[in-house]
Amino acid sequence: MHSLFVNEVFVSLQGEGHFAGTPAIFVRLQGCDVHCPWCDTGYAMSRADTLRSGDNDFSVLAKKTASASFTCVDAKLLCDYLLGLHTKIRHLVLTGGEPFLQDIAPFMRLVLDRGVYVQVETSGTRPISVYGEPNVWITLSPKRAKLPLEENWLKADEIKIPIACREDADFFLPRALELADGKRPIIALQPVSQDRDATRLCVELCLQHNLHLSLQTHKYIDFR
Ligand code: SF4
Repeated sequence: MHSLFVNEVFVSLQGEGHFAGTPAIFVRLQGCDVHCPWCDTGYAMSRADTLRSGDNDFSVLAKKTASASFTCVDAKLLCDYLLGLHTKIRHLVLTGGEPFLQDIAPFMRLVLDRGVYVQVETSGTRPISVYGEPNVWITLSPKRAKLPLEENWLKADEIKIPIACREDADFFLPRALELADGKRPIIALQPVSQDRDATRLCVELCLQHNLHLSLQTHKYIDFR
């Protein structure tokens, strides 16, 4: 039996990056050790026992408002559960937390076998165990608080760089531009927390360097 620590499962539109606007089923995995100061999913960071509900507690997965409670759920049950959430949506976003803190490969094989396309959103700080599989898309979002493993830069389909200030851009742009060949990986700059100055800076840099702009569109329309 294979299990995962999961905070929540919900259906929404992917708000960011290459797949912005795509209907998707989100699985938010519990646990992250990167600790970005501006993290907007801090409730999914801790694996403290006090936050852990009983195993396979689907009421935790179906929560309507964000909370730190999580459950350990059997991979097969999770697969059946999320496929039952919608008859048509077959784009799965594995997010966190940091998905690669856990061994997600067995679960991914289950959902891939059921015809699901899987997008994994990762900080790249752990080995990417599912690289090169068909119907898998890796979104790498590097963080200054803990840098990606060097090997992971080359495994990404898109690199989405959060920019809060000029220093973030100065820090990450040289590496990103080295990788940018105009096709793959897609390099996108994403202003943190819809900050106006950061947004203006990202627009300027995208035009200057021929990069993509990623906005957190779900936040502009007040949607999860
Ligand atoms: S890597 Fe992501 S989940 Fe982890 S602290 Fe940073 S923003 Fe939050």
